[in-house]
Amino acid sequence: MKKPFIAGNWKMYKTISEAVNLANGIKRELSDCNEAEIVLCPTFTALASVSDVISSTNIKLGAQNLFWEDEGAFTGEISAPMIKDCGCKYVIIGHSERRKYFSETDSTVNKRIQAALKGGLNPIVCVGETLEERNSGKTLEVVSKQVKGALLGFSTDQLKEMVIAYEPVWAIGTGVNATPDQAQEVHKYIRELIADIYSQDVALDLIILYGGSVKPDNIESLINEKDIDGALIGGASLKADSFIEIVKKSII
Ligand code: PEP
Repeated sequence: MKKPFIAGNWKMYKTISEAVNLANGIKRELSDCNEAEIVLCPTFTALASVSDVISSTNIKLGAQNLFWEDEGAFTGEISAPMIKDCGCKYVIIGHSERRKYFSETDSTVNKRIQAALKGGLNPIVCVGETLEERNSGKTLEVVSKQVKGALLGFSTDQLKEMVIAYEPVWAIGTGVNATPDQAQEVHKYIRELIADIYSQDVALDLIILYGGSVKPDNIESLINEKDIDGALIGGASLKADSFIEIVKKSII
């Protein structure tokens, strides 16, 4: 039985002091929790301070993006060694907001995953369809293309370092979550795809998160689904109480 994996994506919210307060609030309740893998993903500016707060706990740190070069004349970018240096274990890659607003493609997602792995980080790779794609019956086709593009060229050992997050774009920040059936259908499909590309064993072990308007009142029904191993949470991770409640309810 896998541990539930619950990650908070704080997006572009929280100054350093606000992030430290939030991390302290979460730490007070979940410091010793080892029944779930808990990950906090603050903004780049707050990574080092949040790392200090959670350093002697079971809570892990993640960044929200990285650039694929280690260093160089790339004004405004941050590399894998830099976020590793801040204490990160994980990094979110290919979030739909990056695809939508910052021209992220399957090919740049692939390059960022390579950089993350080279830097000793575990990528949380996001995929998911838009409402238009879902309404035109293209959900599985879109997800398949994104998963295959992201994973192109990676070995089984490299896949084992990754987490995949299925995040339907229409469910992110809208308050309308995918139903457990809708999410399960896509999670199962992703697992089958991984079994085809790699092997059944590696597919069974892969952690596949659901993301999109997860809240304390819907986490249980989602995580009860066979192929949903946890959640990537935006809005509800910005308050300690709701994040803590989600973590507790995910532990069955
Ligand atoms: C996200 O940002 O990855 C996300 C799922 O956001 P929300 O929970 O607010 O829908």
